[in-house]
Amino acid sequence: MGLIDRWLRKYQDDWCRDCKCVMEKVQKQLYALPSVTVGHYVERKDPEFYAKNLYIVDKKADIPSGIYACGAIQYRCPECGKRLTVLDPFLPVRNEEKHENSVVFRNGELDDILWK
Ligand SMILES: [Zn+2]
Repeated sequence: MGLIDRWLRKYQDDWCRDCKCVMEKVQKQLYALPSVTVGHYVERKDPEFYAKNLYIVDKKADIPSGIYACGAIQYRCPECGKRLTVLDPFLPVRNEEKHENSVVFRNGELDDILWK
């Protein structure tokens, strides 16, 4: 996937496809993905994987080195009220972050797990 594609995809994550408007952030939370270590990232789209493997943390410093982190943001459309969740898996490397493609759940697949 090229840079432009990545950028477009990221840009559209918080876009309501029905109303063609930008969604607002409702809440966000940081997680650790201890089962995913440096060099072993594979894009996963199945909610069960995240349900089993995400561990809530307060801050990046709480994540051991070599372990993937995952930001989660819930968006809500101000027009139609639809919600979606965007996962942003990344590897914290010193002061940098190596971001992978974000994973979007548009049907509330993770709502019971992430947004209790
Ligand atoms: Zn909408």
